[in-house]
Amino acid sequence: METNLQLNDKVSMPALGFGVFQTPPEVTVASVETALEVGYRLIDTAAAYGNEREVGEAIRRSGLDRDEVFIETKVWISDYGYDQTLHAFDKSAGKLGVEQIDLLLLHQALPTAFDRTQEAYRALEKLLADGKVRAIGVSNFMPDHLETLMERASVVPAVNQIEVHPYFAQPELQKANATRGVLTQAWSPIGGITSYRGTGAGSTFDDPVITAIAEAHGTTAAQVMIRWHLQEGRSAIPKSVNPDRIAANFDVFDFELTAEQTAAIDGLDTGVRGGPEPEDVTLEAFGRDIPEA
Ligand code: NDP
Repeated sequence: METNLQLNDKVSMPALGFGVFQTPPEVTVASVETALEVGYRLIDTAAAYGNEREVGEAIRRSGLDRDEVFIETKVWISDYGYDQTLHAFDKSAGKLGVEQIDLLLLHQALPTAFDRTQEAYRALEKLLADGKVRAIGVSNFMPDHLETLMERASVVPAVNQIEVHPYFAQPELQKANATRGVLTQAWSPIGGITSYRGTGAGSTFDDPVITAIAEAHGTTAAQVMIRWHLQEGRSAIPKSVNPDRIAANFDVFDFELTAEQTAAIDGLDTGVRGGPEPEDVTLEAFGRDIPEA
């Protein structure tokens, strides 16, 4: 299995990365250091997670060269607008302590202020043209958001990072991404949100179909779910603060799911979203100040 995926701008990105949403700043350095030690080379953070500084610190402490680690972060909606988003890059790069960010995403569409979303994306295009970022993309964009974006944009997003786990797989959105050459990257890839928020269907970790497949391979349920993403061509960014789980979630390259097993996991989709409805995201409800670097 290929461990890297080629983005539409020809940049190579590790398929399996490490997420740090809800990882408190005080444990972020240790978590990311562990992740880099066990082999992850893609770290996914966001301005809104409040831990970019600690992600940067862990990367420096790892002793890895800057070009060995793929850094992905996201601009929060409060920083949308052309000038504001250019400045959001400075804030994120400053906190991370890097000159260049590998992949910069718009965290959410702002459907009620889509012009600001488009201006923010125009800033990403400028950052790309200036070499400040190696690739640009979006997150939580629905097919109509992609369509409206592309009415004015000239660069197709390299990535759309969206909620994808066995209980909410968004097959239509994945198709819309693929049709445009946008790579789908799965957030909450092992269904963490079905545990920490709850969607009424129980936790993916306890799902009998998934645990039976795990038992057949002598793996964990999380490893099965990560393998499912990779075999279906998605990027996945599982999060953990537990060193054993951080390591286990990366130890997925020595077994293979059968076509029947990936199809069985596809069949678990409930159509019930765990995260916020993308159409309902507004500055009023979700806006918050992102501090300077
Ligand atoms: P995940 O699917 O990665 O699950 C993480 C949760 O599962 C944590 O509670 C973790 O707890 C637990 N866990 C991790 N590994 C295991 C395991 N092997 N067995 C049992 N439990 C486990 O969910 P996330 O929502 O964190 O998503 C991953 C990443 O995606 C985020 O960190 C972030 O980078 C990104 N994301 C992006 C969003 C967006 O809007 N763009 C929204 C949400 C997430 P513990 O830490 O204690 O191990």
